[in-house]
Amino acid sequence: MRRNYSKQREEIRKAASVIGVHPTAEEIYSLVKEENSTASLSTVYRNLHELVKEGELKELILPNGVKRYDADDSEHNHAVCNCCGKIFDVDIVIEGLEQKIKELQGFQMNGYHVIVEGICQNCGRKEGAKNVKKIIRN
Ligand SMILES: [Zn+2]
Ligand SMILES: [Zn+2]
Repeated sequence: MRRNYSKQREEIRKAASVIGVHPTAEEIYSLVKEENSTASLSTVYRNLHELVKEGELKELILPNGVKRYDADDSEHNHAVCNCCGKIFDVDIVIEGLEQKIKELQGFQMNGYHVIVEGICQNCGRKEGAKNVKKIIRN
């Protein structure tokens, strides 16, 4: 039992670790399910919760409330496309943020994580404008 449990957990960790993908719990579940038909969504949720607690995975809560998982533990920010919903790793540093926030509010910053919203290159090139109108209307 115990052994099974940790094997499943390893599968879940692996499924969540495809760099750059940032899967949702449901996407991880369908990946794990391909290998192990007895896996349940609640097991996936429970294991993800534990992996996050132990620092093996990062949980990203997007502006639309969707949770995604990231196994890349380097400090990086994210951009989310309002059109296709894809999430991208963004390697930018906000210069002077620590200094500014200290001056303005006396706040000692330990770190930050930014989620930029917008339209990705792919959607911008294609029917971006049309889809955005659709999203705004909904
Ligand atoms: Zn897009
Ligand atoms: Zn990431």
